[in-house]
Amino acid sequence: MSGSIISPTNFIRQIIEEDLVNHKYDLIRTRFPPEPNGYLHIGHAKSICLNFGIAEDYQGQCNLRFDDTNPIKENIEFINAIKRDVKWLGFQWYGNIRYASDFFEAQYNYAVELIKKGLAYVDELSPSLIRQYRGTLKSVGTNSPYRSRSVEENLRLFFNMRKGEFSEGAACLRAKIDMSSNFMVLRDPVLYRIKFVEHHQTSNQWCIYPMYDFAHCISDALEGITHSLCTLEFQDNRRLYDWILDNISISNHPKQYEFSRLNVEYTVTSKRQLHLLVTKNIVDGWDDPRMPTISGMRRRGYTPESIREFCQRIGVTKQDNLVEMGSLESCVRDHLNEHASRAMAVINPIVICITNLPKDYEEIICMQCHPYKPSMGVREVPFTSEIYIDRSDFLEKKIKNYKRLILGEEVRLRNSYIIKAENIEKDNKGNIICLYCSCDLKTLNQHPGDGRKVKGVIHWVSAKYALPAEFRLYEQLFLCAKPWEKDDLLMTINPNSLMIQDGFVEPSLKTAKASLSYQFEREGYFCIDSADSTLNKLVFNRTISLRNNWLKVNNIHCT
Ligand code: ATP
Ligand code: MG
Repeated sequence: MSGSIISPTNFIRQIIEEDLVNHKYDLIRTRFPPEPNGYLHIGHAKSICLNFGIAEDYQGQCNLRFDDTNPIKENIEFINAIKRDVKWLGFQWYGNIRYASDFFEAQYNYAVELIKKGLAYVDELSPSLIRQYRGTLKSVGTNSPYRSRSVEENLRLFFNMRKGEFSEGAACLRAKIDMSSNFMVLRDPVLYRIKFVEHHQTSNQWCIYPMYDFAHCISDALEGITHSLCTLEFQDNRRLYDWILDNISISNHPKQYEFSRLNVEYTVTSKRQLHLLVTKNIVDGWDDPRMPTISGMRRRGYTPESIREFCQRIGVTKQDNLVEMGSLESCVRDHLNEHASRAMAVINPIVICITNLPKDYEEIICMQCHPYKPSMGVREVPFTSEIYIDRSDFLEKKIKNYKRLILGEEVRLRNSYIIKAENIEKDNKGNIICLYCSCDLKTLNQHPGDGRKVKGVIHWVSAKYALPAEFRLYEQLFLCAKPWEKDDLLMTINPNSLMIQDGFVEPSLKTAKASLSYQFEREGYFCIDSADSTLNKLVFNRTISLRNNWLKVNNIHCT
C-alpha cells in the first residue's frame, strides 16, 4: 500500500484501506463504466476522479469500460469523446479499452447457465404487459404465464431469440426471482431483449442484447474488479448484481458501493437533458462553452487541474450532493490566477487621442506576464498617441465610488502614464466618438512628483497596433438553480447566457496559444476559442470573471 496518500479520505477509501490491511485484496481494481450515449459531464468527472484516483493512490488498476448494451443510442463519436476527456482530465486507463460487448458471448453462456438452473425463462408477454404484471411499490406482481416453461423449452426459445426468429418485443429473457419482492428490480427483471440494430463494436453479430444490470456485474467480475463504485440510484440494483453473480459459476464477486450523484446549481448533469439542449440547438453542440460537459469546460478554458481540485473539495459521501456553481468556479479561478499570463484587452472600446503627443508617437513598454512570477517573462506593449479604453471606464460626471476616468480628472493607464480627460467629441446622437486627453510624460510607472494623488487604474491598448478580437461572454445557462426539476427545461434558459462583443487585444496575443489561458486585466480569464478562431479573427471565450458574481446572479428570479 502506498505510503503517501494525498487525496482526502472518504468512506470508500476507508473500506479499501481495510481490505488491503486485512489482505482481502492485494491489488485494487476499479473501473469507470460510461455508456457511450453522450459526452461526459462534471458529474462523470466526480466518478472518474474517484475511480482513477483510487487506482493511482493505492497502486491499483482502473479500467475504462464502455457499457455498450444499447446500440440504438450509442456511437463511435461518443466513444472517442469519452476517451479524449478521460485523458485530458489527466488519467490513463489500465491496458486496453474494455467494452461490455467484449463479453457478449460469455454473457450469453451465463444466461444459458441460469436457464439450465431453472433461474431464467423466455417470456412472450408484450413489454406493456410485463410492466403491468410487475405490480407497484404497494402491490405485488403477478407471475407471467410463461414463467413455468421447462428448461428445454427455454433453452430452445432463447437460442431462437439469438437466431433472430422472434421479432423485437415478441420475446425476452427474464430472471426467475420473486414477483412479490419488496425490491422492484428483483421482480423477474429482463436480462435480454431483442433489437435488430447494428452495434458499433459487434456489427450485426447479435440481435439480442443483455440489459445493463446483467452485463455490468458480469463484466465487473470477468475484469477482476474488486470495488464496483456507482451512484446511489443503483442501490436497489445491488441486490440483482449480487443475485446474478451468486447464481452463475464465476469466481470473482466484486462488491458494489454507492455514492451520491453530483448536481451543480444552474446547470444539468443528466445526459438526457444535455441531449435535449444539443438537439434543440439551445447550445452549439456538446462542447459549447456553456455546457457542463468536460469538452464544453475545456473549450471554455477550465483546466483539468481545477476540475480535479473541485472533485477533491466536494468529496464522496452518500449525502445529497448539490453544489454551488461558485465552488467549481473558485477552483478554476484559483488555478488560473497562478498560471494565466496577464494581458490587456478592451472589450467595449472608445478611442482616446492623446493631444500632447505627436500623432506618430510610439513607445514600447515592457510589462510582466505575471505579477509575482518573473519566470513567466515579459511582453512588449506599444503605447501610441491613440489608444482604446473600455467605455465603462469613462464618465462625464463623477458618481460616488467611481475611480476611473472622469471628464476633467486624471487616471492611470495600467503599467503606463497618467492621463487627464480634457474634452469629448460626440456625434449628433450624443455618442462619444473620441475622448481627448493629455498625458503626463513624467509618470511612466512613477508617482507624480508634486504629490497629486491618482487612485484609479484602467487598462488600454494601442489603437494602431491592437488586434481586433471577438469576445464571448458567458453567464449560466439556466435562470433557475435546479433546472432539472422543471417540467419544461427549455422554459428556464437564460437568454443572456452568451453575449458577443467586438473589441481589441494587445498585439502580443498574435501568438496566443489555443491551449493557454490569459488574464485580461480587470476583465477576467479568457482563452482562444478552439473551434471558431481563425487566422483572420481571434475569438476569445471568457472562462470566468475575476470575482465571484454569484451573489448578484442569485437574485435573478427563478421562472
Ligand atoms: P444517464 O445520465 O444517461 O442516466 P449516467 O449519468 O448514469 O447516465 P453513465 O455513462 O452510465 O451515465 O455513467 C458512468 C458512470 O458515471 C456511472 O458509474 C455513473 O454512476 C457515474 N455518474 C454519472 N453521472 C454522475 C453524477 N452526476 N455524479 C457522479 N457520478 C456520476
Ligand atoms: Mg448509467
